[in-house]
This record gives sequence, C-alpha cells and structure tokens, in this order.
Amino acid sequence: MSTFQAPKGTYDLIPPRSAKFLAVREAISAPLKNSGYGYIETPGFEDVALFSRGVGESTDIVSKEMYAFETKGGDQLALRPEGTASVLRAALEANLHKAGNLPVKLWYSGSYYRYEKPQAGRYRHFSQVGAEAIGTEDPALDAELIILADQAYRSLGLSQFRILLNSLGDKECRPVYREALQSFLRDLDLDEETRRRIEINPLRVLDDKRPDVRKQLTGAPMLRDFLCDACKAYHEEVRDLLTAAGVVYEDDEKLVRGLDYYTRTTFEFVHDGLGSQSAVGGGGRYDGLSEMIGGPALPSVGWALGVDRTVLALEAEGIELGIPATTSVYAVPLGDEARRVLFGLVTELRKAGIATDFAYGGRGLKGAMKNANRSGARYTIVAGERDLAEGAVQLKDMESGEQAPVALDALVTTVRAKLA
Ligand code: ATP
Ligand code: MG
Repeated sequence: MSTFQAPKGTYDLIPPRSAKFLAVREAISAPLKNSGYGYIETPGFEDVALFSRGVGESTDIVSKEMYAFETKGGDQLALRPEGTASVLRAALEANLHKAGNLPVKLWYSGSYYRYEKPQAGRYRHFSQVGAEAIGTEDPALDAELIILADQAYRSLGLSQFRILLNSLGDKECRPVYREALQSFLRDLDLDEETRRRIEINPLRVLDDKRPDVRKQLTGAPMLRDFLCDACKAYHEEVRDLLTAAGVVYEDDEKLVRGLDYYTRTTFEFVHDGLGSQSAVGGGGRYDGLSEMIGGPALPSVGWALGVDRTVLALEAEGIELGIPATTSVYAVPLGDEARRVLFGLVTELRKAGIATDFAYGGRGLKGAMKNANRSGARYTIVAGERDLAEGAVQLKDMESGEQAPVALDALVTTVRAKLA
C-alpha cells in the first residue's frame, strides 16, 4: 500500500485480468477492421461546447456527468464523455467527407470519463470500442453495424445478450410525436425535474427507470404509430436485413437512449447477467449531429460498446477466453557464465517470435524454478558450466517433467518445433 489509491469510481487493470480487456478490445475491433473501418484516435479532451451542442444540454451526460474545466490559458474544455462527437469533429476537420468515398467508416478505442455515482458496472473512467459510418443514409449500413457488434459478442462466446431495436423517426415525424407525447406527459403526476424534462426532451421520460413513473407511462403514445412513411420503410428494411443475416433482435418501442442526436435507427445491446447496469453497448443513426456542430448535412450511424461491462458479461457467463500463457519459455542460468550465454539465447528466442522470460536477480535454482512455474511457461531452459562445456542446455518440459540436453545452435529450431 502507498499513501494513494485509485480515485473514486476508477480501478486499475492488472494482470492477469487485464489480458481480458485487451482480448475484448481485439474481439470488438476485429470485425470492424474486416469491414472497411479505419482506426481513428482523437484527444482525451475537447472544447466543452462540442459536447454540450453535440450530445445535448438536456442529457445527463452534459448536465450532470461531464468533467468540464478551465485551463490556465482560459480555454473551456471537458474530458470526453463519449466518442461520437469527437470522431465526427475530427472527420470534418480533416475533410474526410470530401475525399470522395462515402461513407467514411472509422473505429476507435479509448477511455471515457463521466462523473457518475460509482457502482458495479458504472465507473467514472471506463473504456469503449466504437464505430462510426459517416455521410450515408442506407439501411444496409445500420444493419452492417448491428451485425458486426453481434459478431463481436458471439466471437467472445457470449450468448446471454439481447439486441433491442427501435426507430426514433426523423425531422418530419418526430416533432409531431413529441407534441403528442408532451400533452400526455403533462397530465401525469411527476416531480419537478421530470416535468422540466417533458419540456426539454420528453422522449427521455420514456426511459425513466422508476417503477412509479413506469406505471404511469402505460398508454403513452408510441412513436411507432407516428413514424412517417419514409421512416417506416427505412426501419422495415433494417429489420429485414438483420433477419436475413440471422441476427435476432427485439422491437423495443420504449428504447430512446440518452443522447439527443439520435434519429431513426436506435439499438442497445443488453446482457441479462449484469443486474441493473445491463447495457453493454448501444448506438444508432444520428443524421442531424453534423449540422448541430457546424458541419454540412451528413447522415451517419454508429455504436459504442463498453469494454468494462463486456468483461463483466464474460465473467457472468463463466467464459474463459483461453488466453494463452504469455511466456512460452523460461530461462534459468546457473552461474555467471551461463547467465551471459542464456541471456543471449533469450534474445534469440524472442527474435524468433517465441515468448521468453529470464530468471533475473541471480537467485538460486529453487526460487528461479518457482518463477518459471508461475510464468506459465511450457519449457524451461536450465544450464550450468558443465552443460555449456558440452555446448548444450537442458530443456525441460514443464508439463511432463521430462528433461533432455539440446545443442546450443539447435535450441531455437527445437523449441519452435516443439511449440508448434
Ligand atoms: P447507461 O444507461 O448504463 O448509463 P449509457 O446509455 O449512458 O448507459 P452509452 O453512452 O450508450 O451508455 O455508452 C455505450 C456503452 O458504454 C454502454 O452500453 C456501457 O457499456 C458503457 N458505459 C457507459 N457509461 C459507463 C460507465 N459509467 N461505466 C462503465 N461503462 C459505461
Ligand atoms: Mg449513462
């Protein structure tokens, strides 16, 4: 213990569990890399106005959860609470949308910050992998993203997740619905804050998790009944493409999601083993966002999957990822001369792509063998003066316990053959 601890709502990723986070990031990004998405990285902080305009003043993210601060130079910045606004900002700044090929398909991976009430699955610093397809309105693109997320989760072995799907309409039909919903909500018995929400962002009231509110919401007008023909046809096409791809989803007409910028397709991935923080990922179409942050009209769609909650989902399902031991070979020298020779062999093995570690610190054989065991290495190389005089090292199979001398100049090929 030192005097310090990780700040409230944060935690450290420590081996061996940290390997799961790398594996999850890899599993989520693999289908994207395989589908024309290019990697993008943006700063950890942005002009605070990008988020207040892009994500929306009325959202929890902006109104309660943002780490906003003023720099010594007087700039108003915020740690990024989500990825979409930043990625779109960066794409516009680099004129990627003018380079010719639309959609611009990008994926990202990084840390995000929200001042939340810490609890299981809800942290102040968390990690997401996300994807955005910018500049094209095509139901196949919405379907593609949902299919790729489904593929990512399945490749991890997850099965207890569900895909919730809805359409939020567009600038034609949503305002009509909004008014109908507002007049329904105004007649309910609600607290002050919720009443205010009715006026700013009434759709979010539908997302209220409190049982007494939920009960009153039965009979609320449903967006589905207000969708214009274009939105209806678009949504039908997304659903058909998903079904054709064998992706199972549930229609959830109450799914609105917390961000202001969504239009038409919205979806959420929920995992049934996670208790109340059940959303492992979510996304949707955001046709108006580009204009909201001062860009041209660029209909776009994207998602972000939470890495932390995906790891928790793996643990809830009892899935072992079969992450191989990081070390394959462990070298134990006996004496100074052996130390120099084995250290050289270690470097050679590593150059040959064989994960190798070394008994540092000149401890005795017993301690070194303990470390070799702990490393998970399949083979140990042990050598003392006598072995070296014969131009050999002892190669020990840690599974069978068998040990045999191997000539120094045959070591790399022998080990490689045995590991293959
Ligand atoms: P929730 O409803 O649980 O607050 P959200 O709608 O705010 O989720 P998004 O903004 O859609 O979440 O972010 C996408 C994903 O990022 C979530 O599904 C979740 O897996 C993860 N995520 C969001 N906030 C947190 C957090 N505070 N801690 C851990 N993971 C988070
Ligand atoms: Mg949230």
